Amino acid sequence: SVKAHRGIDVRNALSSMATILRENRVTRSIVVNDDDVVADEESNILYWSLRFLGVRRVPVSRGSTVEVNVSLEELGFYEDVNPEPYRVFQDTLELLYRNWPTPLVRLRSLSGDGYTVWAKLEWYNPYSMSIKDRTAWYMIVRALEEGWRGDKIYEATSTNTGMALAAMGAIHGFKVKLWIPKSIQKVSDILLKAMGAEVVRRDKSLTVEMISEVKEAASRDNALHIDQFNNDANFLVHLRFTAKELEVQLKHAGVKLKGIVGGLGTSGHMSAITFYFKTRFDNIKVYGVVPAPGEVIPGIRRPETGMKWVHWSTPDRIVDVKLEEAIEAVLSIARKDGILPGLSSGAVAAAFMKLRDSGEIEPGHYVLVFPDNGFKYAEQLSAYFAKHGS
Ligand code: PLP
Repeated sequence: SVKAHRGIDVRNALSSMATILRENRVTRSIVVNDDDVVADEESNILYWSLRFLGVRRVPVSRGSTVEVNVSLEELGFYEDVNPEPYRVFQDTLELLYRNWPTPLVRLRSLSGDGYTVWAKLEWYNPYSMSIKDRTAWYMIVRALEEGWRGDKIYEATSTNTGMALAAMGAIHGFKVKLWIPKSIQKVSDILLKAMGAEVVRRDKSLTVEMISEVKEAASRDNALHIDQFNNDANFLVHLRFTAKELEVQLKHAGVKLKGIVGGLGTSGHMSAITFYFKTRFDNIKVYGVVPAPGEVIPGIRRPETGMKWVHWSTPDRIVDVKLEEAIEAVLSIARKDGILPGLSSGAVAAAFMKLRDSGEIEPGHYVLVFPDNGFKYAEQLSAYFAKHGS
């Protein structure tokens, strides 16, 4: 029942969240006044840090702060990772967050010689069949919590966030208008329109190149520019859910992890995973994967094109991958493990193979985050087959 008057910037809660995650406990109370309102600035930061991390209960005292010693577990931190065991859902929103964790599967094709590779399959999300369902959902949850009651959302997207936002629009009853760059496969227009969105194509190679146009159009049309590239809900959803559930899964499997490899687009998911795992565990390395200069791999891009959260929490190393290397990794996994990952997932697998083959990473357990599957990318696979044969 604690009430907070002042919301704070996520950035201002980072060091406090890091302390809580590192110590795995809270050591002081949140001070409230007689009306249960958070009383001082330090308490306000602690309140928001715990809220961002997703606890169910907070330690509170009236008047002045008291020392406490209460674990995150006791505060209900892990209650976020609480799937519906029989997979019966009351609506398609529950189908998203009550169906987490997404699967973690050992890949035979990449395991061996002392390396065990686990893929986290983010295409087990229902709207865009990608990791971006999490981002779109949480951006809307936070906008609604903050009082947004508009009827239009505008966004620049490379498809996945757009599909998930279109789903949110369908569920909540608002219109969605999306800008996609020319470099993205043609099927995206059809998928986005089928989901009820209005689609605008621009002669650009990167999604970020359209942000200023979208911002202007939104202010002109009285729409909300939800802005996955700057909206901290994108970082927070992966901190509170994606990273937390991965930790629980690894604990359950008895895996002691050496490293995590994942792609950088907005940098939302890998920055949050880096922050979470580097704060809580010693010696876990994190690798960010980007397209090599001049290459287009949908969903990921080079850090110099501008990313927010990667500067909050930096991977140990960034690995460059070419589109053809990504496609070859996709085909190799498809033909040995029987699942068809998407192109950015292929890039992540190719980066892992480069790190392994150069001896840069030692044998042990690794997690690869696979953002989506290959069904949207028939066009790129077809061009590859035309050039190299199938
Ligand atoms: N891979 C795919 C297929 C994506 O759609 C995205 C983001 O749109 C990413 C990777 C990158 O994820 P993030 O934006 O969290 O960095």
